[in-house]
Amino acid sequence: MASLEQNLAAVRERIAAAARAAGREPDEVRLLAVSKTWPAEDVRALAALGQVDFGENRAQELIGKAGELADVPLRWHFIGQLQRNKAAAVARVGAVVHSVDRLPLAQALSRAGEGSGTPVEVLLQVDLGGPEGELGARGGAYPAGLPALADAVAELPGVRLRGLMAVAPRGAAPAPAFARLADLAARVRADHPEAVELSAGMSGDLEDAVAAGATIVRVGTALFGDRPLPSGEIGHHQPHESHQ
Ligand SMILES: *Cc1c(COP(=O)(O)O)cnc(C)c1O
Repeated sequence: MASLEQNLAAVRERIAAAARAAGREPDEVRLLAVSKTWPAEDVRALAALGQVDFGENRAQELIGKAGELADVPLRWHFIGQLQRNKAAAVARVGAVVHSVDRLPLAQALSRAGEGSGTPVEVLLQVDLGGPEGELGARGGAYPAGLPALADAVAELPGVRLRGLMAVAPRGAAPAPAFARLADLAARVRADHPEAVELSAGMSGDLEDAVAAGATIVRVGTALFGDRPLPSGEIGHHQPHESHQ
């Protein structure tokens, strides 16, 4: 089994190859290491190898790890469903929030950003599965409502609208979904030029996302190994080799 260092090199090479294949520069694509379920020591080890951006999908886990790793210069990203009452705590660790899917959440983040004096960087999460969820909804605002949501979020004083995020729908080819996302992103960017980020692509589909213009890919499994399944489910936890 590969070490963390080898995994990181392999993922970076996949990103670089996908960028070159798309006629893009490898450094146009930022790697966001999704450390959910993995302990702070794994984050520390990957950070020691030069990785800066880390993503979590649960507020409690993010806040815990950010506290344990306060001595490491990291940039945190929040990529999961966020409750309004956790918005301030997530903002406090300086996280970029990729999963803003409704105005009340953006308003809560804006209040936090105003209170701290540092605007919260946000991306709007788009549901590419369709309003009926026929392709397997993965969360987010529906494409039809996106321009209005972007306009409203851009007006808020305590957030900065930085772009869009999506997860490819289950049970469908990722490339057409990412192409649709890129279309939406171009439309939002026409009205909000600072919304340049496109957060798309994971371990299984990052090449398709980079081809469609992703500026941030969110990779967990290909870096850290298979995550343990929630207790009660059948499955085997296969941790990556120790890298101490
Ligand atoms: C877990 C997660 C990822 C990483 O997925 P992998 O398949 O492990 O690379 C990316 N994005 C979101 C929103 C996630 O929840």
